[in-house]
Amino acid sequence: MKASQFFISTLKEAPADAEVVSHQLMTRAGMIKKLGAGIYTYMPMGLRVIQKVEKIVREEMNRAGAVELTMPVVQPAELWQETGRFEKMGPELLRIKDRHDRDFVVQPTSEEVVTDIARQELRSYKQLPKNFYQIQTKFRDERRPRFGLMRGREFIMKDAYSFDRDEAAAKASYQVMAAAYRRIFDRFGLRYRAVAADSGAIGGDLSEEFQVIAATGEDAIVYCPSSDYAANMEKAEALAPQEPRPAASNPLTKTPTPGKSTCADVAEFLGMPLANTVKSLVLATDEVGEDGQVLRSQVWLLLLRGDRDMNEVKVSKVPGLDAGFRFATVAEIESHFGCKPGYLGPVGTLLPVKLVVDREVAVMADWVCGANEADFHMTGVNWARDLPEPDLVADLRNVVEGDASPDGKGVLAIERGIEVGHVFYLGTKYSKAMDATFLGEDGKPAFFEMGCYGIGITRLPAAAVEQNHDERGIIWPDAIAPFTAVICPIGMDRSEVVRQAAEQLYSDLLAAGIDVILDDRGERPGAMFADWELIGVPHRITIGDRGLKSGQLEYQHRRDAAATQVAVGDVLGFLK
Ligand code: ATP
Ligand code: MG
Ligand code: MG
Ligand code: MG
Repeated sequence: MKASQFFISTLKEAPADAEVVSHQLMTRAGMIKKLGAGIYTYMPMGLRVIQKVEKIVREEMNRAGAVELTMPVVQPAELWQETGRFEKMGPELLRIKDRHDRDFVVQPTSEEVVTDIARQELRSYKQLPKNFYQIQTKFRDERRPRFGLMRGREFIMKDAYSFDRDEAAAKASYQVMAAAYRRIFDRFGLRYRAVAADSGAIGGDLSEEFQVIAATGEDAIVYCPSSDYAANMEKAEALAPQEPRPAASNPLTKTPTPGKSTCADVAEFLGMPLANTVKSLVLATDEVGEDGQVLRSQVWLLLLRGDRDMNEVKVSKVPGLDAGFRFATVAEIESHFGCKPGYLGPVGTLLPVKLVVDREVAVMADWVCGANEADFHMTGVNWARDLPEPDLVADLRNVVEGDASPDGKGVLAIERGIEVGHVFYLGTKYSKAMDATFLGEDGKPAFFEMGCYGIGITRLPAAAVEQNHDERGIIWPDAIAPFTAVICPIGMDRSEVVRQAAEQLYSDLLAAGIDVILDDRGERPGAMFADWELIGVPHRITIGDRGLKSGQLEYQHRRDAAATQVAVGDVLGFLK
């Protein structure tokens, strides 16, 4: 590729709404362009990265025996009504109507369509196992689209679905995918961790997330440095002892002042200034198992402030609210709590503080807090700890660094991660709901045993940038760089020698299979270098008159502090 024919558009300043470095740098490097909230154009430079991610994913999925297809982005609602998700899924599911007033959804994922294909096409156990995948546009109307490609509303996901004859075979298919994911993430060249995740109602341990390690990650991951234990916080908390942490072992525990709390009390207690617009609201949550038993309980104190949109909050089993553990919308909370319309809105930056309720004393008045309105208070609440990053609901934890690892092999450490992949054993959840069966060896129909496997194709580059950048720009791992190498000729327009050497090197590198771009735009060296450092091309070769006189080029890796003189014939060795 020659830069003059390609499209390069870099910016000095990041857009004002870009909160995280990947969003800033990818916008400045001309890789993405915002069209609306959570909706981006993948510009030519960014698309090259995305295509490299897709290529690796495709190769490894094919190697693992999965078969590619492409399912529709716009899907008739009927299938989604069969599983109940058309009604049950919250506003993240984008529902649309056609000219005949018929309902459709824009796929956030595709279990329904793929299960419909399986029930029509996979008739016999002899056709199993089968794993279908697609690399396709998804839409999720995220409550808080943010961080550029990291949490978009329209994004690209690789989603795969396995179909098996029985549970053992399905678990084997799951393991094949988990192994393929390790190969995929190894190839990206990023630091990542595979962590156990909650498999929700399905139970068992067959759910893992692939988390790219980055300080700005939205997820907290818990691991044991002296063993291979690793879990996301949700899972780690589910395994942790349920009793409130004793004050002595938790330096963050504060002892509540007895009495009725107001917003002002809360503000004082937390030591944070609260504007007059702040509302506090306490929600009790019980996580209920399939058979109705309470798995764990939490109480959340939510301080709602400002004019931004509120995150989803987990809520269930508050007094008078008889719902299972799930996400609730602000509107639902409003109606369940019977708060006056507008009471919760406009609401904004969520400052959640985790409280642990001692179930034995839940009705005794140690600490009262609530919706700041009569009869909407909780009693018997003990403060557990507050949070370093208060606007991340996911962060409310009952597990802290130094806790014993559940495997007994050491103590726990916590780091932050970005969920870039997820493998999940589904069992017969969808096949039963959609009556999807095949004929077994015994001649009887049986439900498919399923698994689903996602990779955030467009989230991955953002995660890579969060992990690999410096003050000058992005530093791509070779595997997913938009170009592996750039040739920067100095004074190409003035010097025929430089022009010829640059063109020669360019064709030599292309012939050697290197994804190289020749910067023939005629920019000054300073501007040219600044562009490529921002864009993050890992290998740079500079060609100038002076060096050429002694047969030398300059090679510099994006991480190197200075360039190295290299004989023209030796440069290839640095790029492989
Ligand atoms: P998150 O917890 O970040 O909301 P999720 O658990 O809802 O993600 P999955 O349903 O597991 O996501 O989807 C598979 C993969 O798709 C995720 O691991 C992630 O990499 C990617 N993904 C999910 N939501 C988004 C989004 N809004 N923008 C970009 N990628 C996404
Ligand atoms: Mg999500
Ligand atoms: Mg998740
Ligand atoms: Mg997930």
